[in-house]
Amino acid sequence: MIRVAVVGAGGLGGPITLGLVHAGFEVTVFDGDTVDISNLHRQLQFCDADLGRNKAMALRDWAGATHAHASHWVADNADDVCGDVDLIVDASDSAATKFAVNDWATRTGRPFVIAAALGVAGSVMLGAPSFACYRCWFEAPPGEADSCADAGVLGPILGQVAAIAVDGATALARGDRRTAGTLWTCADLSIEPHHVRQRPLAARADCPACRTSPMPPGQIPLLLAKAHHASH
Ligand SMILES: [Zn+2]
Repeated sequence: MIRVAVVGAGGLGGPITLGLVHAGFEVTVFDGDTVDISNLHRQLQFCDADLGRNKAMALRDWAGATHAHASHWVADNADDVCGDVDLIVDASDSAATKFAVNDWATRTGRPFVIAAALGVAGSVMLGAPSFACYRCWFEAPPGEADSCADAGVLGPILGQVAAIAVDGATALARGDRRTAGTLWTCADLSIEPHHVRQRPLAARADCPACRTSPMPPGQIPLLLAKAHHASH
């Protein structure tokens, strides 16, 4: 069975975990937070009876996930707690965690998915060895990043982002690399008629995360050709 780690059991982690469980994957969920009443409007996996419970544990029970860790995912012990997973999905509300997941997955040669939603927009980055990574796209975490708790998030955006993330994770986990290295963005229909877009990117030659080892022969022309084609 394919093993997947989901980092974060909130508004994105809930539907992403449910989708991956139903796709037949063995899912391990990480979250150190407890369910608060302010979460219930957008974290549809929780109800009044879950208030005060650890989110990872409550989500495991709701979605039928295999394992849950009642602590936040951190890179320091990732090799120990999820070193056997085939793919990792970031569904956290932390920019620093997204970069940490990217760096760990890139270093250990795993495919990964990084999902984000804030306000009325969201994004999903799909990664795999030899393709552009999250740092190729965004370089470094912003100094002062808003969170959903501070800035809010539109509930339906979470569903859009989660659907793309599950679709992408399923393809990557099964070895499909056609969407690897791409960034998907979506936004509320009222402000963005073409609300889902996919953009490819060539891996940056100087990326500190994914270009610390030589590229396989023939990989650079292939990636550049993909990016050039997509820009027209
Ligand atoms: Zn990179």
